[in-house]
Amino acid sequence: MARVYNFSAGPAVLPEEVLKEAADEMLDCGCGMSVMEMSHRSKDFEKILAEAKQDLKDLMNIPDDYEILFLQGGGNTQFAMVPMNLMKNKVADYIVTGQWAKKAYQEAQIFGTANKIASSEDKTFSYIPDCSDLPVSEDADYVYICENNTIYGTKFPELPNTKGKVLVADQSSMFLSEPCDVSKYGLIFAGAQKNIGPAGVVVVIIRKDLITEDVVEGTPTMLKYKIHADKDSLYNTPPAYGIYICGKVFKWIKAMGGLEAMKERNEKKAKLLYDYLDQSKMFHGTVEKGSRSLMNVPFVTDSEELNAKFIKEATAEGLVSLKGHRTVGGMRASIYNAMPYEGVEKLVNFMKKFEEENA
Ligand code: PMP
Repeated sequence: MARVYNFSAGPAVLPEEVLKEAADEMLDCGCGMSVMEMSHRSKDFEKILAEAKQDLKDLMNIPDDYEILFLQGGGNTQFAMVPMNLMKNKVADYIVTGQWAKKAYQEAQIFGTANKIASSEDKTFSYIPDCSDLPVSEDADYVYICENNTIYGTKFPELPNTKGKVLVADQSSMFLSEPCDVSKYGLIFAGAQKNIGPAGVVVVIIRKDLITEDVVEGTPTMLKYKIHADKDSLYNTPPAYGIYICGKVFKWIKAMGGLEAMKERNEKKAKLLYDYLDQSKMFHGTVEKGSRSLMNVPFVTDSEELNAKFIKEATAEGLVSLKGHRTVGGMRASIYNAMPYEGVEKLVNFMKKFEEENA
């Protein structure tokens, strides 16, 4: 079967070059075995891990006072690890712009007082609220955002004014899609399965002064950032193969020209789709223009029947996983870093044809 254009929100499309390279190295990655068979304490794996870290550091210009961790447990474990490790005063402020931010907000309530200081739930999370002058709590340990909302297709056009408090961001569905000034954040985390690799790895970038022993009482050892930082992400057996693929994706992004080049490529793809949606009489984007994501583009027709017909016919054309999230309906095209321009072009051409045929 020919490879399809995969618009899945995650796990998602990966660069073909990376997959081919991994296939070539499946039986022998240069030391007579597969990375999957290798001891995580071996020199060979140490090199893979160190290179992945360095390449990520280079790509994002991560300052020396930040630690890079490769952990497990996905985004959902970070919803707990963040408050367990950072809620020193047991107070945190959450900006709730979608399901994932809401889940994080709810999880934080287990460990202390989580305040919802802004929300866009009134309009089904279709916009990012004005975050220039929010009632940030005096004693908040951090302000939390989900910077790109995978389900609703919104992205913070600018970072919130945290009034001096530490900013924590879930960047899962936008990680490495554009340049990022890491120094503005206390902690960034991202599940790998959208922009950087297979499910099973979560990258955490954390300012070193936030890594302390002072954690919520009862925090299990595996959920302390300090233990992973002290052991250089090798406290326990890491998701070695996943880290290896992430490392290859970092090198692919570097070879593509880095994050400026990624941004340009992503803007070009997103513009093609949004421009079409803005003039279409059949398909409509669901997000306010100023809040649009470059990565996840939800859209609908006015009819459930047409939505279903579109998804079915698109699938037959090799344009797959376009069904919107179950809570939103309609369609969603996730156009992560690895989605080529040609994929979006094929989608837009198909949408044009579908609109003509079903007008
Ligand atoms: N945050 C965001 C922005 C997500 O899109 C997702 C899942 N797709 C999660 C967190 C949850 O990640 P996981 O399934 O890895 O726990």
